[in-house]
Amino acid sequence: MTPNLNHIKIVLVDPSHAGNIGAVARAMKNMGLSSLTLVNPKQFPDQQAVARSAGAHDLLDTAVVVNSLDDAISDASLVIGTSTRARRLSWPALDPVNCANKAMSESCNGNVAIIFGNERVGLTNEQLDKCQFFVTIPVDPEFSSLNLAAAVQIITYELRKTYLGFKQADNSDDQASSLASQSEIQGFFKHLEQVLVAIDFLNPATPKKLMRRLYRLFHRAQLEEKEVNILRGILTSVEKVAGLNPQGARGKKREQK
Ligand code: SAH
Repeated sequence: MTPNLNHIKIVLVDPSHAGNIGAVARAMKNMGLSSLTLVNPKQFPDQQAVARSAGAHDLLDTAVVVNSLDDAISDASLVIGTSTRARRLSWPALDPVNCANKAMSESCNGNVAIIFGNERVGLTNEQLDKCQFFVTIPVDPEFSSLNLAAAVQIITYELRKTYLGFKQADNSDDQASSLASQSEIQGFFKHLEQVLVAIDFLNPATPKKLMRRLYRLFHRAQLEEKEVNILRGILTSVEKVAGLNPQGARGKKREQK
């Protein structure tokens, strides 16, 4: 399961301001995305776009220009539309975090298209019908429309955060030593109890809840194999220093008394 930012494309439908296209390219490049598709841009290529891209002009150079939304999404297995309001109650709606999770999961195997609408009218119902999900950025309902590039920035920021989260989880999986098995943990608990009894910390006649509290403490720690070995090593040293017989410690101590 390797998520791939290159499998996610941003699609701008009928963008009317070339400057916005440049600002979108910049927002995308900041977040490590590179695939931009433009459906019927009013003016493109354009100097305004280059100026507003602030160095992300490579995304403008490689932007794909098409005549219809169908062409833009034909290779995508997941299509998510963005909308200022939850227009359709029956349609599956996502927030930006869930959108990022879905998109990054899908990017492991397929291509994802995230669709943004025209600055003035947004996406039409017909365009939204082509989306499996739509996502709304939860802004103040009194003033709910974001600038196109600002909306792209927020959606792509969430994508990046999720992507980094996936990668971090991958790395820590590689580095993690294995957790102790239940039989190792039960062996440690038995050993611990023997030693606590032997050093008179635990009175088996009135155990109260000591062992249960200790079980809870060590379960919470999610002990690794190596850590159980260290703890058992400590217990064995205690037994040695106290002159206890590791097997049947309390009996031996009693004999010595
Ligand atoms: N009057 C239009 C506003 C379009 S803003 C409308 O109400 O839809 C241009 C594009 O930016 C939108 O089509 C959408 O893709 C994106 N956008 C703006 N605000 C958004 C928000 N709050 N949530 C999700 N997308 C948003």
